[in-house]
Formats: sequence, C-alpha cells, structure tokens
Amino acid sequence: MKLIKLLFILMFGVKSLLAYELYDNRVEDKIWKSGETLLAFLQENMLPLRLYYDLDSEDEKLAEDIRSGTICNILRDENYEVLQALIPLNEELQLHIVRDDNQSYSMSVDPILYQTKQERLLISFDDIFSKDILNKTGNFPLAVELEQMFKNSIDFTKLKLGDKLVVFYTKKMRLGRFYGTQEIQAAMYENRFKKYYLFANEDGAYYDDKAKATDTNSFMVPCKYRRISSRFTKKRWHPILKKYRAHHGIDYAGPSGTPIKAAYRGKVIFMGTKGGYGKTVIIRHPNGYKTLYAHLSKFNNRVRGKTVKKGALIAYLGNSGRSTGPHLHFGLSLNDRWINPERKIVFKNGLSGAKRKEFMKVVKEYKGKIEELLQEGI
Ligand SMILES: [Zn+2]
Repeated sequence: MKLIKLLFILMFGVKSLLAYELYDNRVEDKIWKSGETLLAFLQENMLPLRLYYDLDSEDEKLAEDIRSGTICNILRDENYEVLQALIPLNEELQLHIVRDDNQSYSMSVDPILYQTKQERLLISFDDIFSKDILNKTGNFPLAVELEQMFKNSIDFTKLKLGDKLVVFYTKKMRLGRFYGTQEIQAAMYENRFKKYYLFANEDGAYYDDKAKATDTNSFMVPCKYRRISSRFTKKRWHPILKKYRAHHGIDYAGPSGTPIKAAYRGKVIFMGTKGGYGKTVIIRHPNGYKTLYAHLSKFNNRVRGKTVKKGALIAYLGNSGRSTGPHLHFGLSLNDRWINPERKIVFKNGLSGAKRKEFMKVVKEYKGKIEELLQEGI
C-alpha cells in the first residue's frame, strides 16, 4: 500500500499540492550535499545505522559514489519519521529504504524505472555547430557530446552553410521528462560534400566507417595486468546474490606493487583513503574528465597535488579498502558522472579481426538509415 502511495505521488509530481492534500504523509525532495555520506544521512533522519554497516563491499562503494546534487525523495509519516526514501546511485539504480508494518527498516538496491525513445535528427547548418544543434533540439548535453565526438575530424571554423548532420540516438524519459544522458549510436557530418561518420561500438567507443579510431585524446590503460576481473556497468542483475549491482569502473587484477600510471595528463587532486575504495588517487583532466585509482598499496608521494603527464607514476597496485584480492579499480568520470573507461581507452589503429567484422555490420545498417533520412529531408 505504501508503495502505491509513493508511486502515485512521484507520478503526479513530488511538489504537487494534490498529493499533499490527499495524504497525511509528506514527500520531500532532498538534494545530496557535496561530501555528504550515507552514514550522515541515516543519522540525520534517525534511521538505523546498521543499514550502512550491513552493506557489502560493492554496495558500500556505490554509496560512496552518490553525486552531490542528486535529488532524493523522502516520504514521511505524520510524526516526521521516514516511511520510505529513494536515493539514486546512478541513472539506473537507486537505494530504496522502506519501513515495514513492524516499524523495522530495510534497504535494497532497486532499478529506476524509465522509458527509452529512439530519436533521429537531421540538421542543415546555418550558424554555429553546437548552437544549431541546441536550437533544433534544446538538448545541451547532446550538442556538447557531438562537438566532442567530431572535434578531431572537423574544423568547426570551416563549416559551410548547408553542411548537414545526421544523428541516431536514444533518449531516456522518466515521469514525462527527459532523464539522464542520451546514447548516440551513429552520427554523420557532411562538410562540403565530404561525409564524416562515427558509430558506437559495443566497447562504448566511437570509430569511423573504416573501423578506425578518431579520438586522439584517448586515455591509456593505467597498468600492466593479468586479467580484467570486472567491467563497467550501471546495472547488472547478479544471479547468485539475487540483487542488482553496478560497477563504476574497470578492475585490473595483477600482482601487488605493480606501478600505476596516470591515464592522461592532469592534476592530482586527491591522494588518501576513501572509505571502501581504500588508498585512492584522483586526477583531474582537461574537458571535465577525472580518473580514480583505488585499492592501492602505496602512493608516489612526489606527485601529490602536482600536475602530471600521461604515463607518470602515481602509485602502486594493492588490496586496500574493501577488496577481495590485489587489483586496480580504475574509474573515469565526465562532469562528475561515471562513464565506461573503455569508451575512452581506444586503440589508435582501430578495430581488427572479429571485432571489426561485427562493427562493420553496424556501419552498414546505419549508413542505410542515414541515407534514408537524407532522402526524406528535413
Ligand atoms: Zn572495481
């Protein structure tokens, strides 16, 4: 019954007066503050601290990752006690705290419900690349992402009137509103009758229609490793644990003491212990990127607070924090949102072998769709 109430209120807008009047219970929006921890949140709301201490190592790290500015929803009873709370962990999963009829609290990791919508976009340019996209779509992150994608192949100062852009992407919708980040599957820019293509590969990186990488600013793999023990995912169902998990990085398993290098040039902005991540280094890079290196055994103290080059020694691989064996947890964020590092670790020569063959099928399919849209016109 409580869930139905909460869903009702969420559906009709958290701030809706109607919802306040229909129920004695109150829903409030709460903005996650910078540096706020789950433990502090529980304390503040008089929730049992065991909810935090009972988290397993992976969920503890997710709780560590809650972005400042995240909007949480709290449903309270007439005594101002928490009935339910929803705390988004990323675009896919949220912490769900519930009080049952015996006044006992439990917490689980639940999927966030949303719909996806396939979008096609055709623009004929008459002004500035990102401005034209923004005018046509009102989607600022899309304009920024397209500019980033094409910046190595196109000189934006040499745009011609009538140049064309075709984009295929997926949009997420939640409660009738645009939600999260879009996913671009294919994009084509026609500059003076020459066509530049980019297609998303299953590794998340973009390659052109010859399966060549165009991203010259790509990040490097930060260490030698024996195997990748865990990949990036925003949502995965764990069949044995029977729960949802997310993993905001790549785990490179290898021997303790393996040198860890900066994946790209930047400034070391954190070198210390960070909860379940153990000994951690964070580097800030140009264009809104940050990298995180966790479970380290030792720091290279000489680079503390310094600007480092790509490939500079920053620390050594280890097993600190809540880790089940020596490995490097490598995280990459863009504007404080975790993204798949494999998206930016692209191989200069592009794809080959079976990977290339699979990719070329995608190229063929989308090239057809792009031509179709160009024929149809605006
Ligand atoms: Zn990890």
